[in-house]
Amino acid sequence: MDGMFPLRPALTVADLVADGLAATADAAVLSRVTQDFRMRLTPEMREASANSAGVARQFVPSAAELIERPEDLLDPIGDEAHAPVPGLTHRYPDRVILHVTKTCEVYCRFCFRRETVGETGHLPADQLEAALGYIAQTPAIHEVILTGGDPLVLSPRRISALMARLAEMAHVGVVRLHTRVPVVAPDRISPALIAALRLHPSTWVVIHTNHADELTPQAQAAVARLADAGLPLLSQTVLLRGVNDSADTLESLFRALIRLRVKPYYLHHCDLARGAGHFRTTIPEGQAIMAALRGRMSGTALPTYVLDIPGGFGKVPIGPDYLTQDGPHWQVTDPNGRRHDYADPERT
Ligand SMILES: *Cc1c(COP(=O)(O)O)cnc(C)c1O
Ligand code: SF4
Repeated sequence: MDGMFPLRPALTVADLVADGLAATADAAVLSRVTQDFRMRLTPEMREASANSAGVARQFVPSAAELIERPEDLLDPIGDEAHAPVPGLTHRYPDRVILHVTKTCEVYCRFCFRRETVGETGHLPADQLEAALGYIAQTPAIHEVILTGGDPLVLSPRRISALMARLAEMAHVGVVRLHTRVPVVAPDRISPALIAALRLHPSTWVVIHTNHADELTPQAQAAVARLADAGLPLLSQTVLLRGVNDSADTLESLFRALIRLRVKPYYLHHCDLARGAGHFRTTIPEGQAIMAALRGRMSGTALPTYVLDIPGGFGKVPIGPDYLTQDGPHWQVTDPNGRRHDYADPERT
């Protein structure tokens, strides 16, 4: 895998049994699960899993993954529906997603790209060239979003080359990376990597994290290095049953992120990935959690709760709703759940 830092050796199901993260009796069925859906966790997340069920459930395979439900989809967010060239998803006019690699440092059991992630190396050079050519020739693209897989498994040298190319395109005002690396493999956030990210004048980093117990001292230090370098930081979190589906758990996470200078950006309703049904909550459950948080937390710490509409139709906020219409009048719900009348001024 040219161009990548070496990944850590993969764990086996026997390692999980040795750690007490899986029962001996489950070893055979978990081996079967990992044939369908790759397993990888870093030493940091192996240790965090041993100390926290909320972390372990995200990374340790479970027999529930063999259960397929009628609503499960192979491409739950429709990446394939909007691919002008391989490796590029262009769904919204002003921004594209560039899938620079399919590899990750960890494979999350709920991943919405679980059918495509894996250790197949980075986007081949000719496909990367074609994708960069498309971006260069499409002035409507204001923002290039690097994702994967995880873009930060690429070497600083390769990331530098990519950032330099994007910085040459005057219409690309922003480069955004979506990554789990600062949390799950914090030692990758090196001076060389940070220098590479800063080759574009406006690089935003969106950190994927789902539970405060993932934010180990090493992860916190890595996030601080990014913030100290002046990179604006956002977070994205997936709402996951049995991991973070309570207001208290998410409050701890969002408070920890704000302290780390990371603005919670999105709380994703769990996608319809195959074999991940046991992680899904209902939308009313998610709305109730968001309503509870609105009543008790700073607005700076609150993300937008969004659904990626299956089929590639886009992401939209899904509430809760604070506003209902009653004839010419509005009813607004306050953070304590009480309703109030509100009338728009007359337009003349
Ligand atoms: C999520 C997504 C984006 C980014 O959406 P934002 O709302 O700007 O964060 C862009 N393109 C595609 C295809 C996406 O799925
Ligand atoms: S790091 Fe992201 S892309 Fe990789 S398995 Fe986890 S959720 Fe999926």
